[in-house]
Amino acid sequence: MKKFILNLAEVQELVAHNSYTVSEKQKFLSRCIDGRYENSSDLPALGIPGGDLGDLAIIAAAGNEFGFEVNLQKTSDTLIEFVGGVGNFSFHTDSHAVKNLAAGGCGHIKLITTENEAYKVTKEQAESIKKTAQELKEKGANEVVLHGDHMEGAVLVVRGDYGIKPQYELQTDEGGIKKVQVFIFHRTLVDSRHKELSQKLIENKAVKLFENQDAEYLYEVLSEETDNHLFETARHLAKNLRIFEVNFKNNGEYEVKEVGIV
Ligand SMILES: [Zn+2]
Repeated sequence: MKKFILNLAEVQELVAHNSYTVSEKQKFLSRCIDGRYENSSDLPALGIPGGDLGDLAIIAAAGNEFGFEVNLQKTSDTLIEFVGGVGNFSFHTDSHAVKNLAAGGCGHIKLITTENEAYKVTKEQAESIKKTAQELKEKGANEVVLHGDHMEGAVLVVRGDYGIKPQYELQTDEGGIKKVQVFIFHRTLVDSRHKELSQKLIENKAVKLFENQDAEYLYEVLSEETDNHLFETARHLAKNLRIFEVNFKNNGEYEVKEVGIV
């Protein structure tokens, strides 16, 4: 099947049909930016590369790049506490990986291992993150299995308190139906998660900052590292796709803008 590349009008149509309100209980639960998640009413809205596992990599990378110590074990413990228990700690694999280990999984986590320098993590950290996934899976973490090939035809960067489901059936001019998918990164939810998480990481001594640095500083560097990781993965998995910003107002009205090409 060929990827269907979405234009502005098509993204607007997808958003019109696929947006949903985010419950207070769910707002910090994550999913990957992957467009293969099945639409469902309890789909976490917070799209971040690699889900919770990807967030672990972001925190490790921020430590390496900005020169502070990160204890990966305490960081994953903090994240688990933050999302409300190991059962809510989420990442994904796919049905290709279930059949053949080398062929699939989460593309982002795979890239962190193969291109670790670009993601500012050491080989040891990348391996340790993958090991964490295995250990947490055994303890009941939420490993979602995604199906099919990547068909994402746009990158959406979302702002506001609404989520967007990633799959849609578009009516074609010829009267047919075209199944489409989009990558979704949720800027607002990722930022507010990182704001609260920064505080917790410091409290739990998962990170050791210098004396003049505080939670606000940690939040800033996590945001910067998130952008790096998003950009690196987009370069590999979303090359030549258009990027759209979707800005929701409180009343659910929204505006979609095309902002560039990966
Ligand atoms: Zn993924």
